[in-house]
Amino acid sequence: MTGQTRSTSIIRFVSARWTIGRARALDADDGLAEMRKRFVLPDGVIYLDGNSLGALGSTVSERIHRTIDEEWGIALAAGWQGGGWLEAPERIGDRIAPLIGALAGEVLVADPTSIALAKLLSAALTARPSRRVIVSTTDNFPSDLYAAAGAAQLVGAELRVVDRADLAAALTEEVGVCCLTHVDFRSGELHDIPRLTRAAHDAGALVLWDLCHSAGVLPVGCEENGIDLAVGCTYKYLNGGPGSPSFLYVRRTLQDQLENPLPGWLGHDEPFGFEAEWRPAQGIRRFLTSTPPILALAALDAALDAFEGVSLMAVRHKSMALGQLFIEMVQEGNVPSLQVASPLSPESRGSQVSLRHADAPAVIEAAMTRGVIGDFRTPDLCRFGFAPLYLSYEDAFRAAEVVLEVARSMEL
Ligand SMILES: *Cc1c(COP(=O)(O)O)cnc(C)c1O
Repeated sequence: MTGQTRSTSIIRFVSARWTIGRARALDADDGLAEMRKRFVLPDGVIYLDGNSLGALGSTVSERIHRTIDEEWGIALAAGWQGGGWLEAPERIGDRIAPLIGALAGEVLVADPTSIALAKLLSAALTARPSRRVIVSTTDNFPSDLYAAAGAAQLVGAELRVVDRADLAAALTEEVGVCCLTHVDFRSGELHDIPRLTRAAHDAGALVLWDLCHSAGVLPVGCEENGIDLAVGCTYKYLNGGPGSPSFLYVRRTLQDQLENPLPGWLGHDEPFGFEAEWRPAQGIRRFLTSTPPILALAALDAALDAFEGVSLMAVRHKSMALGQLFIEMVQEGNVPSLQVASPLSPESRGSQVSLRHADAPAVIEAAMTRGVIGDFRTPDLCRFGFAPLYLSYEDAFRAAEVVLEVARSMEL
């Protein structure tokens, strides 16, 4: 995260209609345009599903093969001691930390997201026995709600799921932890981390933020905003590959107050001491449970190379501008069956634009046959994710053209 990439001149879009020339002019002025070289993408495809599975980084394949051939194949079990494998969860966590505004030693890459979430929620509740409630919102990602309910049950607590409008009222003194997701996976709506974190803290609760659709594309400011706990996927905008393990963040000053509810040998202070008693490691490592998935971590480690020297502010600016271009084109296209379902203001939106269409699956499928890859979310949403490191303004322009043509042809 050293060095700066030139940020694009954005948002001050004139009200003229979009043309390919205007899109290309933005590309010519785009300091992030060269980042496209850091990825391998099939020809003829505009990939707008990077919010589901990020694209393949150009150094990943070589890195995985090297890990297999030279580390596993030659060093064999020596990879664990002296080969750097044991340290990988923290070392790669430290590479993710600057991307979410966290400090070194605050991020660990270990479990799938839902498991990490359950672990941190249980830990938070156990640390504050007088507060027996997790609060979350009905619009949260369902897996987060399942995991939160499971975590509550495990520690004899209760999950209360409330409508977003009722969140403030739900923050009573019974609440131990408030479990929120930064970007709504359906609409792309961006929730206000500073305000909601403050509200939870004012009520005496800890806050856990799910950063699945934020990490790698939005500044989060874990330290700056006093976030207590966070989890996030690495296979979305961090491009770690299918099923790459999630990261978890625990504020440094909180680490020694929390116990890992699923202790395992690799979170022990002396993993190779084989003591009968659990004794947690100091710091973030105590939240580790099991043997880390080294091949998946090698892919993630290489994928993070794509962020070297990249300014996250430049990424955010381009993300807003790409989304804005796409939305304005959809609005100009004026196809009644196709409506923007995301916030119109770029400041209120993550890096995704959702469009509502009564036959959304057919729109997504027809767009796909024409090289534009988005995804469908029930019941009527077409989702398009904008990954600024590998998408151009021309891509956003062409994608909007294709989606409009598809929707128009379906009206005939
Ligand atoms: C993608 C996503 C997950 C994924 O959870 P896994 O356990 O890694 O499968 C969790 N939460 C949110 C908000 C997501 O968008």
